[in-house]
Amino acid sequence: MKRRSFLKSCGLAPLGLTATGYARAAASTKLEVDSLEVFRVRINRRGNWVIARLKTSGGVTGLGDASHSRSEERVLFYLKQFSELLRGRNVFNAAWFREATKDIIRKNGAHGGEPAAVAASALEQCLFDIQGKAFFVPSHDLFGGRIQEQFRVYANINRSTEDRSPEGFAKSAASAVAAGFDAIKLAPFDGMPKRSADRSELKKYADLGVSCIQAVRQTVGEGRDVLVDAHSNFNLEDGLDLARRLEPLNLYWLEEVPPASPVENLAAINSRSKMPTAGGENIHGVDGFYPYIKAGAVDIVMPDVKYCGGMMELQKISAMAEGAGLLTSPHGPASPIGNAAAAHVIATVPNVEIFEFSFGEVPWRSELVYPPEEVVQGRLKVSGRPGFGHILNEKVAAKNAVAL
Ligand SMILES: [Mg+2]
Repeated sequence: MKRRSFLKSCGLAPLGLTATGYARAAASTKLEVDSLEVFRVRINRRGNWVIARLKTSGGVTGLGDASHSRSEERVLFYLKQFSELLRGRNVFNAAWFREATKDIIRKNGAHGGEPAAVAASALEQCLFDIQGKAFFVPSHDLFGGRIQEQFRVYANINRSTEDRSPEGFAKSAASAVAAGFDAIKLAPFDGMPKRSADRSELKKYADLGVSCIQAVRQTVGEGRDVLVDAHSNFNLEDGLDLARRLEPLNLYWLEEVPPASPVENLAAINSRSKMPTAGGENIHGVDGFYPYIKAGAVDIVMPDVKYCGGMMELQKISAMAEGAGLLTSPHGPASPIGNAAAAHVIATVPNVEIFEFSFGEVPWRSELVYPPEEVVQGRLKVSGRPGFGHILNEKVAAKNAVAL
């Protein structure tokens, strides 16, 4: 894409031609938040993508991902309410915004997907996208500058796999490998009856899940990585048994075996299983992650930029994990905008090896933004263009729109 046309679509074209010119012009441009637009696009049975777009009084726009909340109606409500808090304030009010929304988020519960937290995060993402675009720098420069230009991403095949049999998961894994991914994640225990007292029924589902993992391992071979998410379907005793059964499959990680509370159960799985463990996608804020990290719940923490409090919070949580000698791997079966927001933050932190990419959900995924999202051979490129480096492709959004 030509720089001028990209900038024009960001609302920046009239401001000048050189980077210095853009920066000077941006400094004098009105950067007060003016208006909010929301786009909703249909994905699949697992939910829609909800995209927020803030516009400044000078016409610069920024994007944020408000997908996968517990209620789209309520996320729309909070997007409107919180955008009113920002209206008239300049876009360098992200820290103020964090404080201004804190009590409302806590009152409504901040556990993964709570609409108030998701809405606040999406608007904060918009602010950092706008800041970058206004000053002609990629958003990662606002967080310290990147030390990685691309990331290994694992293909989460769970959301696109309709056939939940070993053959179905193996087929999805083969598609991901054919698309160039060398790390595959599945969650094959989703059908488990959570509160069943029938031990034989639980064992039947556990056996089926293990068979699915074996089928995926066989399909991808030993040279690629397999990641398993147990979606908190096990108690401690059964979880330890699962970890033992999975040892021969040489997993990259085992994620969220028992529920997150009590955290001691996660810590027991972590200390007693031989493979790395990961989790934390539903936790909000540094104060949520601190006890989790301190308890030794996992080897790899998984803040989700949509749920954890936003881009600043993601950087703070990653720093806490770094201090504890842990890796960070952002959770996020997200839209390309959510993935871009997370990528611009983690490009600046050293303790990241891999993060999530939702594979195979819709064929037009990369085209939802312009220029399209770049994932090549299982590596997501972090854009060096201003802001997140993308604008919304309104034609694709309109074609797949869900009425608001
Ligand atoms: Mg998970």
